[in-house]
Amino acid sequence: SADAILARQHARESSARTYARSFPIVPARAYGMTVEGADGRRYLDCLSGAGTLALGHNHPVVQEAVRRTLDSGAPLHALDLATPEKDDFTDALFATLPKAFADRARVHFCGPAGTDAVEAALKLMQTATGRRGLLAFTGAYHGMTAGALGVTGAVAVKEPVAGGGAEVTRLPYPYAYRCPFGVGGARGAELSVTYTQRLLDDPAGGVVRPAAMIVEAVQGEGGAVPAPDDWLRAMRRITREREIPLIVDEVQTGVGRTGAFWAVEHSGIVPDAMVMSKAIGGSLPLAVIVYDKDYDGWLPGAHTGTFRGNTLAMAAGAATLRYVAREGLAERAAAVGARMLARLAGLRTELPVPVVGDVRGRGLMIGVEMVDPAGPVDSCGARPAAPELARRVRDACLARGLIVELGGRYGATVRLLPPLVITDEEAEAVLERLGEAISAVGK
Ligand code: PMP
Repeated sequence: SADAILARQHARESSARTYARSFPIVPARAYGMTVEGADGRRYLDCLSGAGTLALGHNHPVVQEAVRRTLDSGAPLHALDLATPEKDDFTDALFATLPKAFADRARVHFCGPAGTDAVEAALKLMQTATGRRGLLAFTGAYHGMTAGALGVTGAVAVKEPVAGGGAEVTRLPYPYAYRCPFGVGGARGAELSVTYTQRLLDDPAGGVVRPAAMIVEAVQGEGGAVPAPDDWLRAMRRITREREIPLIVDEVQTGVGRTGAFWAVEHSGIVPDAMVMSKAIGGSLPLAVIVYDKDYDGWLPGAHTGTFRGNTLAMAAGAATLRYVAREGLAERAAAVGARMLARLAGLRTELPVPVVGDVRGRGLMIGVEMVDPAGPVDSCGARPAAPELARRVRDACLARGLIVELGGRYGATVRLLPPLVITDEEAEAVLERLGEAISAVGK
């Protein structure tokens, strides 16, 4: 039974399990936006495999691509050999890239996870520039790996990044609701630009010229926080002027999620590298970096890995990329997302008790930040984050058949990452259930 399965996994799996604790569900079947538990209960899934399932669960296009590949007898594992599936995936991927980037792009297949691709992007730029330090942002999430190379013996592959973790300079992300400078709205983003510029140019600022800046155009785990387009353009200018490669982490924002195929398209910036995973594999594990050929300075073998040629993932990924482009699902994400955001913003102001501090996002990457209604209002207009309230909203959603996950500062932001194929009726049901859940905990 489902209870017995849950109990056994609880006893045998790592204490680090997280989602499984919040969602005591044993999924038996899943289709589109729906997950069906072994007990027959149905849930609307606004987590989508942590943003992976652009086309929802078991989309026919993905199933068909996987079945066709399986039936063809192609090798399922091919290291980094050239295969027809890889060739086709690369075609599909390059066709989605902004033109100015596609013409100069190289791809490196990194391994199954987003974090593998982040490691590769950082190392690529450290190798290319001969520098080590990195620029990153408050609230950023880029993965969980560190250290495998440190304990590897082979000097040649670790020389460019030798000596363990690189020095990271943490810069303020333009999070309007909790501006690091204590002023609200757009002014905070301007101050972040000024601060970054001055810090990098200050001969006593302590920042040795870095190998790269890495940034998310919309922070995902950081709480669905979009950066203003002007701000991103300023970061591009600042890095270009100082010859610092700019890496944009599109692991969560990519493949239509934010209302453009790639989130960099909103600002029109051309990065030096993009990190991609999650949805590019069409629900199977796949991660790549795409970068400007000027940085293609790795020697053969400089960055390898066993699982870089997952044939099924490439087939499922190519089918997904083409379907998202053909069906205009980025545009759909923009339209549905804007409607959902507007409704949630309305809900925020109508609540009798102000438990929702902020509603924000871009496309179908939406965050609702829960706050302590009795707490003091700060100079940005923000009240203290209320993680306990957020957990209660998540549980109240689950009780109403809606899966949502938390993120952001203190885990106080309820995050919505529905599949891009969400129907108008499903969007309505999500808003209804979430609205009820918020009203119930805000009494
Ligand atoms: N970058 C971003 C922006 C992410 O959201 C994530 C995962 N949430 C990662 C990197 C790491 O990906 P993975 O969990 O597949 O290692």
